[in-house]
Amino acid sequence: MSQNAVKRLYLMQVGSMPEYQIPIVCYLVQTGDGQNILIDTGLPEIIPEEEAEFENGKDVIEQLASIGLRPDDIDTVISTHYDGDHAGRHAAFTKAQYVVQRVHHVDAASNPRYAAIRSQWDQPMERIRLVDGDTELLPGLELIETSGHVPGHQSVLVRLPKTGAILLTVDAVPFGEGFTRDGQDDGSNPDAEAIRASTIKLLDRVEREGIGLVIFGHDTEQWAGLKKLPEYYE
Ligand SMILES: [Zn+2]
Repeated sequence: MSQNAVKRLYLMQVGSMPEYQIPIVCYLVQTGDGQNILIDTGLPEIIPEEEAEFENGKDVIEQLASIGLRPDDIDTVISTHYDGDHAGRHAAFTKAQYVVQRVHHVDAASNPRYAAIRSQWDQPMERIRLVDGDTELLPGLELIETSGHVPGHQSVLVRLPKTGAILLTVDAVPFGEGFTRDGQDDGSNPDAEAIRASTIKLLDRVEREGIGLVIFGHDTEQWAGLKKLPEYYE
């Protein structure tokens, strides 16, 4: 196995939607050669008034500190998309390169949906790596383009030495009950046809590659049974 291959995956809950007890989460991937790759950063420190349904918990900075990591130890932030519960602390990671789908970054520039936390994701272009579609970032870490929730949303496939493959669907499939070929769109996504195509794309990958664990973006019940930081998958 190559030195830079993926070694560990941590899951952490950084906030919630208290009314429905829905978890707001981030993930950390560590590689054999010591890279720290964060996937999403959670809610902003101060939640905008129009997003009052969210509540901060032990945030991403505190979570990382509890396993001995400072923000500057993060080499890469994979940004699944720029919604306020996923990109709210991007600016804290001043040494990181941000990895985002090109169509998402371009759309966000003129889309009011992402305006409230623009100061977080609108970083200098030399620190942003724009990718086009499915992309292998390094051995055992693949970005899967899953538009529909938003244009250029990306899910992440992590291949671990012991556990095997874990698919992080993020908001392409927020709840496990929606992971079916004939699932009805819940009406919350701007592009129902695209979300259906992305769901089928992920189902095909799971079947074809025998992916053993699929972690949904905001699934309260599933989340309760998963290992959370300081525990990890390896
Ligand atoms: Zn979300």
